[in-house]
Amino acid sequence: MSKTVIITGASKGIGAATAILFAQKGYNVVLNYNNSAAAALLLQKSLCEQGHNVIAYKANVANKLEVDLMIKEAIYRFGSVDILINNAGISRSSLFTDISEFDWDEMMNVNLKGVFNCCQAALPEMIKNKSGKIINISSMWGVTGASCEVHYSAAKAGVIGLTKALAKEVAPSGVTVNAIAPGIIDTSMNAEISVEDLADFVNDVPLGRMGTADEVAQLCFFLASDSADYITGQVIGQNGGYVI
Ligand code: NAP
Repeated sequence: MSKTVIITGASKGIGAATAILFAQKGYNVVLNYNNSAAAALLLQKSLCEQGHNVIAYKANVANKLEVDLMIKEAIYRFGSVDILINNAGISRSSLFTDISEFDWDEMMNVNLKGVFNCCQAALPEMIKNKSGKIINISSMWGVTGASCEVHYSAAKAGVIGLTKALAKEVAPSGVTVNAIAPGIIDTSMNAEISVEDLADFVNDVPLGRMGTADEVAQLCFFLASDSADYITGQVIGQNGGYVI
């Protein structure tokens, strides 16, 4: 029977690339989205037309009830949840003194509580099966901190703490939990950064370029595979050597 992967925030960017890769590799894919319905449904349609098993599911990861219903739907449609990729995220750039309480709460609710909600909803099925893999997309800024992104950095550092603690707790149940901490990846998340600032940044990347969404998807695929069975609680940097 094919394994089932839930990928949050799969309407575009890293999540979409990951959905395409897992579908092409024969997984049942739950392609989660929140606002970008047109993009998500188009991607689902195109993958289904190629013969893959893909459902698109709208759920705000910050909303526990919506997440619970999404996991139930995945189990109903595909019979299990084997892999959870917590990829959904938002980024905001702001001076620390300008971050409002709303901004802070929104960041924590999507980027950190969203991971909590999805892990808590998916884990009972994984623990029951004594098998499962959770991959959380953090950020190198969660490791190093980024100026003018204190709330983003704090949420992504929280994802790393969650990953390490949960890995210890669920390892005896046969579930691994790892995080990826990407550097600058070429997606719409960076669309608001000026061409000059991006060029300056790339100049400081030892490998001399941005990463691609497909490269992050490939790392997710490895961490979800049997080859990664003995890896848990790790934070894998994927940043072209920017953070060493
Ligand atoms: P992106 O192109 O902006 O895509 C973000 C995805 O997250 C979209 O599919 C969006 O879905 C989804 N999303 C946002 N809020 C959501 C919510 N409340 N519920 C469900 N889905 C939600 O960004 P990306 O670059 O692919 O980023 C993916 C992940 O990688 C994020 O966690 C980001 O922090 C992390 N990351 C990115 C970079 C980078 O340089 N790009 C670097 C390090 C880490 P809708 O549009 O449908 O709402």
